[in-house]
Amino acid sequence: MKIMEIFTQKKVSRRSVLKAMSATAAAATIPGCGGSGGKAYEGTDQNLVPPEITGSYVLGAAPHNCGGGCVSKFYVENGIVKRIVTDEDRDDGDVFAGKSQIRSCARCRSKADWWYRNDRLTKPLKQTKQRGDITGFVEISWDQAVTEIAAKMKNIYATYGGTSIFNLLAPSDRSDQSNNIARLTRLFGADSGTVPWVLDFSYGQHTYSYFFVDHDGLVNRPTATCVALRSANYRSDVVNSDNLVLWGYNPAETRAGAQTAWFVTNAREKGVNVTVIDPRYTRTAEAMADDYVGITAGTDAALMLSMLYYMIVNTWDENGNLMANPMLDEAFIRKYVHGFFDDTSPKHYYADIAANPTAYQVPAGASLSAYILGTDDRLTKAAMSAAAAAYTGMPAGTKINQATSVYPKTIGYNVNDSDALYNKVAPMYGQTPKTPEWASAITGVRVAKIQALATMYATKKVTTWVGGSIQRHTEGEQPVNLGPILAAVTKNFGQAGRSYGFPFEVEYKYPGTMSDKVALNGGAANGASISGDTYDFSKLTLQGGELGPYAGNTARYSPTGVAATMNGIAITVWPDYVRNAGKTGKSKWNYSRSINSTKPVKGLICFGGNFMSHSPNLKDITDLLTTKGSNGTYDIELVLTGDMFFTASSALSDYVLPCAGPGEKWGETCGWLTAEAVVMPKITDPPGEAKNEFEIARLIAAKLGLEGTYKTVGDGTGTVVNSDYEWSKYNWNQGYAAGQIDQDWDAIQKVGGVNMWDQRASKVKVIAKQKYYQDPAANPLNTLSGKIEAYCQAMTEDYEASKMNNIDTRTTDADGTASLYNGGRIYTASTAASAANRRFVYPIPMYIPPWKGSMPMGPILTCSAGRQPGIPSGNRSTIICIGHTRP
Ligand code: SF4
Repeated sequence: MKIMEIFTQKKVSRRSVLKAMSATAAAATIPGCGGSGGKAYEGTDQNLVPPEITGSYVLGAAPHNCGGGCVSKFYVENGIVKRIVTDEDRDDGDVFAGKSQIRSCARCRSKADWWYRNDRLTKPLKQTKQRGDITGFVEISWDQAVTEIAAKMKNIYATYGGTSIFNLLAPSDRSDQSNNIARLTRLFGADSGTVPWVLDFSYGQHTYSYFFVDHDGLVNRPTATCVALRSANYRSDVVNSDNLVLWGYNPAETRAGAQTAWFVTNAREKGVNVTVIDPRYTRTAEAMADDYVGITAGTDAALMLSMLYYMIVNTWDENGNLMANPMLDEAFIRKYVHGFFDDTSPKHYYADIAANPTAYQVPAGASLSAYILGTDDRLTKAAMSAAAAAYTGMPAGTKINQATSVYPKTIGYNVNDSDALYNKVAPMYGQTPKTPEWASAITGVRVAKIQALATMYATKKVTTWVGGSIQRHTEGEQPVNLGPILAAVTKNFGQAGRSYGFPFEVEYKYPGTMSDKVALNGGAANGASISGDTYDFSKLTLQGGELGPYAGNTARYSPTGVAATMNGIAITVWPDYVRNAGKTGKSKWNYSRSINSTKPVKGLICFGGNFMSHSPNLKDITDLLTTKGSNGTYDIELVLTGDMFFTASSALSDYVLPCAGPGEKWGETCGWLTAEAVVMPKITDPPGEAKNEFEIARLIAAKLGLEGTYKTVGDGTGTVVNSDYEWSKYNWNQGYAAGQIDQDWDAIQKVGGVNMWDQRASKVKVIAKQKYYQDPAANPLNTLSGKIEAYCQAMTEDYEASKMNNIDTRTTDADGTASLYNGGRIYTASTAASAANRRFVYPIPMYIPPWKGSMPMGPILTCSAGRQPGIPSGNRSTIICIGHTRP
């Protein structure tokens, strides 16, 4: 059975896939792969004798797209890597004193297993039969490959315009070589040359909500770099905390920064209490936690809500009286957080909002605290504190909330009868007090533990480091929005030892940042964009000039364009967009971009990003790329991939180009958000005719007649780069010239990598939101209100501006009770205050269970899963992930 026959079956067993793949590998019949001549895997593994460590070595990293940025020593003999060990030459010890080796993990240290495998792609391949039939691939010359590819690209752009080739998320490895593929596609112009994507697989909800809920804004950060992610204080500050909470954050395994796990270990040794909240008892939990909180996956929002409930009822008693030793400070919350309490006359920090007080109010019973309390009416009895009344200007005696929760019990999804979720109803607990008992039944966390966590946040200095896992499910924005609110109302922001987000040190311009910002924009703009079709500015409270697309960092709906939704597509639904945009006007997922965009996608390019293994729906992609129209041609006219190996995505391609891997080309990288900057040296040659991405893109650009433009970097100086080496050196030295890295390109070769924070004399210590904490009126956040937004009207408006229909048209709850409670009024700029409509997207984060059946979720592969098919220990297997997986 051929691989594609298996992929296109409705029911796919892991055994059938493995069987087919192992047969394919055994036959080694794919042209262009190494095939005969290489050592069998068994031959390599058996009788393995580590070579004596002698001779010269190269320092640096050779990672794939990981979160590290670590230094290895690669011992090379006659061009062959014989042994790889970790960074070991510099001092190791107290990381807070700057003593730390930048130690590498098993992945970089096993890289030779990648380089010298006998199934590497070594020659360009062309499909000569039907897509997906691997017997149709033949070897062709590089000249034939780039000539034909360039001709197809040229034709697609000429026929369909500047957004017609989709350069699919392809992190490839941690060098910035994949940026050269992006530069290639941008040679034709457009603001990107391709359809840009947003909401990435890794941190989509984090980046999206950050811009609306608590974006620091440039005034609160020392430099303009990397402002796309919610950041905690600089990593070393953790030692100033009483407690470190690792919430869905697993640095021992996922390497968020090369040294982060060492920071946690050292902080714990210095007395910081470490709590790990995770569904899985991770290696981080096992090795570093004083306290492990096991939680049911996808229920973090319920836990956070119940912690906030516990704080509220330990501040006001059931009659609304302020209690002794209250956990919460009402005046403080009103000053820094918008919408935690009802607020029909809000006080904001920007003149445009302040001048129009009814435009951004929090209706009675619509605040987050009202939702948390449900039918509990204590805050409708409680009078504002004198300090709160003085701050808001409200008369003495004004109640804290004006009504109990206006939110219904259930939420319905009725907007599109062709949608998989049509007529589905889920609880949203609008009338339920979010007690620890309520949350315990959902989360599996004991009531006493919930109370203890709440008490800890309310009374201690807490640093919270979050990972991507808490948002990788449907409704994943809920914990992402609630987390910073939890931190804010407990005063855990803006001060030493108190912060929430990703440990963050890249206020420096690390090399990858330079390549993103400086050198991508080769080519003339032709103005093609999808925003005109897919984004309606009239839906926004603030309209007009301030909201011009890409208006710079002062536009508060879309500060940098990075997370703005106006001109990008959500990467998780790219097959839906590619299939429907500009063609059918439909969407399987009711996705507005697919429905409204008039720009068709006709070409797909993906280098080093095996879309068949990391996309949500493998079957859907297979159908998309292999189904022909009535005219007998494929809708997607070009599928081009590049990789080290023949992957499942290669099987669906028209052309497959053999690529050099990390360590076989030059590059540079850094830790994810952390301060390690590392060179990625070329350590060994790629096999056969494999080439690096700089060279591949150059060859295609030459056939397009655009080689000169391609080689000229976009900094306006006319600088020309001719090779991957020159490209990497240029990028590195941009950071050096800007004063962001202390070592120049030549110096970094001698040490492999540096911890920029340790080595810089200035040691910029970022206390996130510090200026805002000290003087919020003078240093407002970059949100619409200028505050942290517990009630975020801007988010619902962005949803509407994106032409999403967010009205839940049911008139009763699932149990037949009344429609909206208390005459609830949830409205936006485009709906009047009296609009009594339910909504699908609300301005507050609630707990809605992840939708069953909303997106296909594949298995999480474990060692035990590998044992079940009877694979003996030690054997190597090719694993294909069916459906969405977590890395
Ligand atoms: S860069 Fe670091 S974390 Fe990434 S693969 Fe290499 S050693 Fe591992």
